[in-house]
Amino acid sequence: MAGGGELTGLPRVDVLVDSAGDLVTRYGRGPTIEALRRAVDGARRMLLDGRPAVASLRGLIAAAGADLAARRPGPPRAVINAAGVVIHTNLGRAPLSAAARAAVADAAGYCDLEYDIDSGRRGSRGARLEPLLVEATGAESGMAVNNAAAALVLVLATLAGGRQVVVSRGELVEIGGSFRLPEIMVASGARLLEVGTTNRTRAADYLAGDDVALLLKVHPSNFRITGFTAAPSVVALADIARARGVPLVHDTGSGLLGDRPEPWLAEEPSVRGSLAAGADLVLCSGDKLLGGPQAGLLVGRADLVAACRRHPLARALRLDKLRIGALVATLESHLRDRLDEVPTWAMLQAHSGALRVRAETLARRVGGTVENGATLIGGGAAPGVGVPGPVVRLACPSPDQVAHRLRGGTPPIVVRIADDCLCVDLRTVPRSDDDLLAERLAAALRPKPLEQRGDGGTH
Ligand SMILES: *Cc1c(COP(=O)(O)O)cnc(C)c1O
Repeated sequence: MAGGGELTGLPRVDVLVDSAGDLVTRYGRGPTIEALRRAVDGARRMLLDGRPAVASLRGLIAAAGADLAARRPGPPRAVINAAGVVIHTNLGRAPLSAAARAAVADAAGYCDLEYDIDSGRRGSRGARLEPLLVEATGAESGMAVNNAAAALVLVLATLAGGRQVVVSRGELVEIGGSFRLPEIMVASGARLLEVGTTNRTRAADYLAGDDVALLLKVHPSNFRITGFTAAPSVVALADIARARGVPLVHDTGSGLLGDRPEPWLAEEPSVRGSLAAGADLVLCSGDKLLGGPQAGLLVGRADLVAACRRHPLARALRLDKLRIGALVATLESHLRDRLDEVPTWAMLQAHSGALRVRAETLARRVGGTVENGATLIGGGAAPGVGVPGPVVRLACPSPDQVAHRLRGGTPPIVVRIADDCLCVDLRTVPRSDDDLLAERLAAALRPKPLEQRGDGGTH
């Protein structure tokens, strides 16, 4: 026990903890005492240095509370996404459908994950997914693992071992969070044989190599190279793969299952389309355009999928019961052609007239204007392409401060700042949150003369 309290007149930790019941309930007694001790020690150091410090009982408990909240953020909190990006990786990518949420809740306790209810014997966790993956993509077989990166590692570890994987230099992308595909590939033990150039790779370039295990095509999903460019089609690559007697693996990224008429998806490869064009294995994410939980789908030739399933890494990369539940429910919506049930699709396809009415109501309530804008698909799908729609623009003296206030409430609200204006995109906001959003915006826009005082560290 440090004894400086007598010197500085600071309250003792054992006195403080008796008044910090809320923190003890929330964080536990041990961590609360530690945090109070840090607060007292910090204050003592400041005072002995002759600097002002929080020294009151309430101030020290508040400081310990802020410290604990920063160290222990708790589970992810629900936020309102008004930022204009549908698949927002920092905000948890695809929001789950009602059916997927219910499936997660059902699977959360004991469940028949690997149990055959009828016979009372062991069942298979893959059996509920495989027929859905086959039906949804037209593949011979399919499985799902932790995410698309895991699917890539599993495929390369299984099919390539230490042999060569031919891939275009124009497709060796960084997928965000500073993860680079080449590094993920090398971690699988595969040897990359990079062919072509950043902007142009021809079909004949894929004839390179003398110990080739497979050809790999990666959809350059989060950037676009324009100008003097060339990349062979899946059909052309499939021909070469067949002639060489090796499989063609296609990482399509977004998890678009079938080709779609929407113009903003024109450049997006679909799983079904890639298989039809001759890819032997296709992999993609579960939480981008598929609109499900984090997962990596791997579909295609039955012998190749079976080999992946038998690889020891398959066990290390497998899905848990919660995500299997969510993925099954999401795929069932796709199979019923009920994209309206999948929030990602419901938002992307929201009627622009209805969005405009909501935007105008909000603009009237908070004093903004409605402009024609665009929502980004995000998650690396269709880079640079937006879905046209209305955006509420709010001119205010300090948009950063208002955005900060919006994030500070419960639930936090995330908006976008563009051209020194606050931009609110309702496409990604549930209609039932419109009133709350309007009230919080109005409050955040009101000048707060006392704010600086309330935030101060001294008293
Ligand atoms: C997003 C993406 C990945 C990574 O997907 P995760 O499911 O996040 O692992 C891999 N490849 C491509 C082409 C992507 O777009």
